[in-house]
Amino acid sequence: RIELRNVSKRFDKADVIENLNMVIEDGEFVALLGPSGCGKSTTLLMLAGIYKPTKGDILFDGQIVNEVEPKDRKIGMLFQSYALYPHMTVLENIMFPLKQMKVPKKERVERAKEAAALVKLDHLLDRLPSELSGGQQQRVALARAVVKEPKLLLLDEPLSNLDARLKIEMREEIKRIQQELGITTVMVTHDQEEALTMADRVAIMKDGELVQYSKPLDLYHHPKNYFVAHFIGSPP
Ligand code: ATP
Ligand code: MG
Repeated sequence: RIELRNVSKRFDKADVIENLNMVIEDGEFVALLGPSGCGKSTTLLMLAGIYKPTKGDILFDGQIVNEVEPKDRKIGMLFQSYALYPHMTVLENIMFPLKQMKVPKKERVERAKEAAALVKLDHLLDRLPSELSGGQQQRVALARAVVKEPKLLLLDEPLSNLDARLKIEMREEIKRIQQELGITTVMVTHDQEEALTMADRVAIMKDGELVQYSKPLDLYHHPKNYFVAHFIGSPP
């Protein structure tokens, strides 16, 4: 269970996130949806413990995320730019988090191969990222995020650089993996259709504030205000 308690984040002199309160239950798939610059990535980086809230706390199973050693945080993250290591092969990229956790070599290779199979990359293990298509690179980033068997999966616009057909395919792929592993997932997107079709609950953000946090059908039929209705494309 994840709890955001009065979380604010200030950069320079501006509050980018203001008083965010939110609970994410175990196994839930939550989408953070909102326009560019509203604070989605910042929120995700705070959930990952990479940014520290200026005010408030984020609790993960009762522990404050920032107070847990990075290597002990059971969190996998796919960044907005996939951030693959260009000089490492697909297999080496996927294994990397396990190396940091000091998992023995043999087990590392085994687990990385399993993760690669999960995203259907088993045939490309020796390639470099530059020799892969955008969709394949996205899959490597996804495999690297789940290889640790995290309890929380954070995805920052995992489908943004894919063409329409691949988007649909990867939507289903991510859902399948999420359900197969039963992993709590928070996905950032600015695509309302993606959020409504994939998530159990959607958090609509605007200017650093949480405007509405509801199940997709509730959002669609009972938008709280004009901004939500317009953004979701609810019937008038
Ligand atoms: P996008 O959809 O474009 O990725 P976003 O919702 O993810 O947008 P954030 O990246 O969280 O938005 O940024 C929210 C605001 O915080 C923006 O105004 C941005 O300029 C600012 N910001 C983000 N990171 C920093 C930083 N490290 N230093 C200063 N300002 C930042
Ligand atoms: Mg972002």
